[in-house]
Amino acid sequence: MENPVTKAINTAWPKISVTSKLDGIRSWSLQALDTCPGSIESPGVLVDACKGCYATTGNYVFSNVKAPREHNRLDWQRIDWTDNMVAELERDRYFRWLDSGDLYSLALAEKVLEVMQRTPWCKHWLPTRMHKFPKFRMVFDQMRQLDNVSVRFSADSIDGSFIPGLHGSTIGPAADTFQQIDGVSLCRAYEHEGKCSGCRACWDKSIELICYPAHGRKMMKVIGIKSI
Ligand code: SF4
Repeated sequence: MENPVTKAINTAWPKISVTSKLDGIRSWSLQALDTCPGSIESPGVLVDACKGCYATTGNYVFSNVKAPREHNRLDWQRIDWTDNMVAELERDRYFRWLDSGDLYSLALAEKVLEVMQRTPWCKHWLPTRMHKFPKFRMVFDQMRQLDNVSVRFSADSIDGSFIPGLHGSTIGPAADTFQQIDGVSLCRAYEHEGKCSGCRACWDKSIELICYPAHGRKMMKVIGIKSI
């Protein structure tokens, strides 16, 4: 049986995905939960925001959607991966890291930082829960110093709460959950059939917090359970 690392090397190149929500903006992703240590509240228990994760249901359970994410988990470990990503992003002006999954490895985070540094023509949006682990702080600080990078630490709650100055995004039950305050932007994809439709707030470093109204059947079920 072929060694999985050898198999990745034999088909070496990052697998890029496109989600309809993001107006065709491309992303590089990993398998949800398997690469999300920040999603765990206590052994066997996910934080509320991850209980309804869209990336564990719907199209994301199909093998053709899972396969590129599993490929990427091995592929990033190649020596040439950073060079390949920089070449892959030559024509991108916006890029989303981790539509699913998270930066589970410090070595991966350092490689992503290098890609960001070497692609100043492209705006990068990176949502993550890895800020919970102190060893990642330095690499996130370096990412945040780049003009073309928006790193958003995700809050764990689904009631709209967040820690000011720490979190860059939070989820609430509905649009009217959130207070209209300076530096806060409400995601209005729900007004556009779930699509960004030209909005690029998540990539905008000047916006401190994005508030996402809950969506998706699984998340609504979690919210329903919580509100009983
Ligand atoms: S805030 Fe704007 S850019 Fe971010 S997900 Fe919502 S619509 Fe898209």
